[in-house]
Amino acid sequence: MSALRVVARPLELRLRHTFRIARGASDSRFNVLVEAEQDGRLGRGEAAPILRYGEDQASASAAVRAMAAKLGEPRHFASAAREAAVPGQAAAEAALDIALHDLAAQRCGVPLFEMLGLDRRRVPATSFTIGIDTPEVVVAKVREASAFEVLKIKLGGDNDREILGAVRDTTRQRLRVDANEGWTPDTALERLAWLAQLGVEYVEQPLPAAMLAETRELRRHSPLPFYADESVHRAADIPKLAGAFDGINIKLMKCGGIAEALRMIAVARAHGMGVMLGCMIESSVAITAAAHVSPLVDHADLDGALLLAEDPFTGATLVDGRVLPPEAPGLGVAPRR
Ligand code: MG
Repeated sequence: MSALRVVARPLELRLRHTFRIARGASDSRFNVLVEAEQDGRLGRGEAAPILRYGEDQASASAAVRAMAAKLGEPRHFASAAREAAVPGQAAAEAALDIALHDLAAQRCGVPLFEMLGLDRRRVPATSFTIGIDTPEVVVAKVREASAFEVLKIKLGGDNDREILGAVRDTTRQRLRVDANEGWTPDTALERLAWLAQLGVEYVEQPLPAAMLAETRELRRHSPLPFYADESVHRAADIPKLAGAFDGINIKLMKCGGIAEALRMIAVARAHGMGVMLGCMIESSVAITAAAHVSPLVDHADLDGALLLAEDPFTGATLVDGRVLPPEAPGLGVAPRR
């Protein structure tokens, strides 16, 4: 067996539309591609650094290199990335974890979902995210998204009611809402009441992560279920959220990769919580990794690669509103063209 060779490369992703959420706007994302090569096989992973958590392309690249230098046996893919992790650099940890899972499944000669023992037919429909904008632009984006069963609408601005009303007048698609911590306890209940009237299924992160007690109190009166996103990173965060949230949103970039995502799913289920699998703006490398895990979750929100002007990789494919993992060995991703 040859030595493992790990390379981190910058991966700039241009967005199809300027993307706005409650915290800001952007036209490009600066991710990191990780290649892990051993015995003639190339495993790929991707980091989508989260600025909010102090990560960027430079810190993620440096973290991947530091991790590679002290990485243990790469065949121990369930723990190798975590044991070498650089504190505060979860996206880099995820990139290496994904690349090691890709390599492992290639060694086994099976697609990753099969190595995990999962049934590809259980992949749930993915939602498609509509960012914050004027009601006119939001309606235009909703019309473009008719291929999806479910839409996730980003709220948290002053014109939430206007936006949601315009969306509901445009489509009968299932709707979810992500407030991205943008509400306050005194206005949330009123918003929840009219969202329930519009048939919204659940609300992601209504209040700031620091307001756990307030969220618990709000949920006692809420007509809609809550899913935690900014409040949850890893498995150890989940027990204290029980009773405040009905479910959690797992993102590989927040938790450090596939191995931790599997632990989170187990812990959430033990607390009777639902599980949603989300993403950042990512190429098909990281999205495909999530797609392989998605048969285990209730709700998929894996539209990150669909928001790109051009995806540099092929991998998971959108079939009947589902992001399906490929059946080739490993992740099944390849450079486009
Ligand atoms: Mg969210």
